[in-house]
Amino acid sequence: MKKIDLNLMSEDTRLAHMGRAPEDYYGVVNPVVARTSTILFPNMAAYEDTDRLYRYARYSNPTSVKFERAMADLEAGYNAVSTPSGLSAITTAMLAFLKPGDHCLVSDSIYPPTRNFCNRYLSRWGVEVEYYDPTIGAGIAEKFKKNTAVVYMESPGSATFDVQDVPAIADVAKKKGIITIVDNSWGGGILFKPIEHGANISVQSATKYISGHADLMLGFAVADHEENYRKLKLAATDLGVFAAPDNIVLAFRGLRTMKIRMRQNAESAMMIAQWLQKRPEVQRVYYPALKDHPTHAIWKRDFKGANGILSILLKDAPREANHAFGDSLTLFPVGSSWGGYESLLQPQVMQTNRVAVPWTEKGAMLRLQIGLEDPQDLIADLEKGFAAFNAAQKK
Ligand SMILES: *Cc1c(COP(=O)(O)O)cnc(C)c1O
Repeated sequence: MKKIDLNLMSEDTRLAHMGRAPEDYYGVVNPVVARTSTILFPNMAAYEDTDRLYRYARYSNPTSVKFERAMADLEAGYNAVSTPSGLSAITTAMLAFLKPGDHCLVSDSIYPPTRNFCNRYLSRWGVEVEYYDPTIGAGIAEKFKKNTAVVYMESPGSATFDVQDVPAIADVAKKKGIITIVDNSWGGGILFKPIEHGANISVQSATKYISGHADLMLGFAVADHEENYRKLKLAATDLGVFAAPDNIVLAFRGLRTMKIRMRQNAESAMMIAQWLQKRPEVQRVYYPALKDHPTHAIWKRDFKGANGILSILLKDAPREANHAFGDSLTLFPVGSSWGGYESLLQPQVMQTNRVAVPWTEKGAMLRLQIGLEDPQDLIADLEKGFAAFNAAQKK
């Protein structure tokens, strides 16, 4: 088998081949599913060798190691830990770098379950959590305290998709020895690579674009260099966090087509976003690729493209009208998650999920995940939704 030197290849080529090792497995083209708990040692001396990569499936196994290497490549980092979900990648990374007495700055537009972890657990264990305006940029330095240990970003953020100035924040944090962690699920490692922009840790929900097929849950965290990787790996090991090999193999399947799916999703989403902007029922469309998005300039500077999720703020209307809109759609069933082949609608809870920048808008905030359906069919569906929205208000 000829070995391919992926380091010399472009990203498209690497995405097609990363994680594969046919030479290790009798020519088998895909990464194998190492469905195991026990890993056998050839003898007593081998067991005593603590540097041995494979000891027990929870620590490392041939499937997880291939995936972690591939994700480190995707994110331009040193190495990765794989986790059972995106949220567990986030909590593992936070626990790896925080201790009681530390101050942690957290972006205000984070994924709401991340906020729950910060409020319910980090705070309870004596970490001082402070939320900041996601558009703060280098101004974050004014919020640094002696005990600031971590700046936690999500870029773009959830619901409103505020793109953070990751290079500026990472730069001022680095000067103070503060660790920067970025939730990079939106960009999927394709549109943005936080480590290349100075961040220490990039985490992702591989449940989203990498999976792409709404059939698995998976996450990972990538470290910028060896020392930070060791801390991540220790936290994952001590917490018992690891990813199931069956999910990893499915994620590899999604990875091969991820970039072309995202490209199509972005094209459809842009068409739909521009159509939505003209609708009288919509106050505002949140999509960073639109010129009037508040952080469009940073997105344009740092990102290679957009994906298929956007939010709309409907005109203030009674709950019945908002429900009539959602309930009359057929191609946008209500459901959590995004990045799959299929379109979805998810109402966003705003007021209780913003503290640094209070949410004062009236009207329902709805997130649309644009899948691989024909965008004209999706637009026709949304048109029906608006007709129902208007009719419900006339009653
Ligand atoms: C979905 C999501 C997560 C969590 O991922 P799971 O795999 O569902 O645990 C984390 N961050 C963002 C931005 C998300 O949208």
